[in-house]
Amino acid sequence: MVNRILLLFIIAACSISVSSYVRETPTTKNKKVINTVVIDPGHGGEDAGARGQYSNEKDICLAVSLKLGAMIKNEFPDLNILYTRETDIYPQLHDRAKFANENKGDLYLCVHVNAAGGRRKAELIGYKTVTYYTGKGASRKKRTKRVPQYRYTTLPSEAKGTETYIWGAHRSEDKELAIIENAPMLREENFEQNYGNVDVNSPEFIAISLLKTKQYFKRSATLAGFIQDEFVKVGRVDRDVRQRGIGIWVLQATAMPSVLVETGFISNPDEERYLNSPEGQEELSACIVKALKNYVAWLEQRQNAGAQETGGQAYSSNLSFLQQVESAEKNRQP
Ligand SMILES: [Zn+2]
Repeated sequence: MVNRILLLFIIAACSISVSSYVRETPTTKNKKVINTVVIDPGHGGEDAGARGQYSNEKDICLAVSLKLGAMIKNEFPDLNILYTRETDIYPQLHDRAKFANENKGDLYLCVHVNAAGGRRKAELIGYKTVTYYTGKGASRKKRTKRVPQYRYTTLPSEAKGTETYIWGAHRSEDKELAIIENAPMLREENFEQNYGNVDVNSPEFIAISLLKTKQYFKRSATLAGFIQDEFVKVGRVDRDVRQRGIGIWVLQATAMPSVLVETGFISNPDEERYLNSPEGQEELSACIVKALKNYVAWLEQRQNAGAQETGGQAYSSNLSFLQQVESAEKNRQP
């Protein structure tokens, strides 16, 4: 029964957004698709993140984030770029999300560095002769045999490449809560036109939040796909777009599209060098900027086409993407 009521509200909310599509005026078509980008350099301060042979994740995250912000500003001079940290400090995760929500971010970009455990390698170093006995009583015999001796060493992991995380669609309730609590649609210029006069505590409002969750999922997944595409073009190993339902708290708590880029593996010596080099950091940043340009163009195209995204549509057209991601995830080593 409760589900049927919710379904009715969802249908009602869909028809509200369909009717707003009909009513859309030319002035709303030309509004900027994003105004504020929040960049979150992972870790910081006492939290070093993953450690390589000579560097820490937190420093790479900050260096890449600052380069990325400067490049975005260059490409989009009127975008508002905010950072959750610009120095070696550790803001609490909930403060990072709160900062992004309070500043009405339209996009949350989280920069991290990956790590994988080393491989244990056995090396034959020689043989040892051991004594053993067979038989009983008078037939008991002393025998010897040669036993191989190994030395075990841990080699650095060979894992490399980039992967981009988005908040899992199957765990959308948490994101929904963030959206309900922060009500990003209330700050839309034409809120009443789009959604009607709804009470924020009403089930209709919750239904709209559900649609927003799905819209953000679609946007996050699209941007994440564009980011991975750009990394592939410069020859980075593509570890794909992945969904997470746990562990990436900031993605669930930000009431906006959000992605987390794992830029490379600090546990791999070649990648550690790349991640620390100015060239590597610039290449990574340039890829994300190109992806952002594609994302903005995609949003503008949708806006110009008057494609008012309804959650239902966004969700169903994402199903094949979802399946791809899930099957890719299954075929991968952790
Ligand atoms: Zn990290």
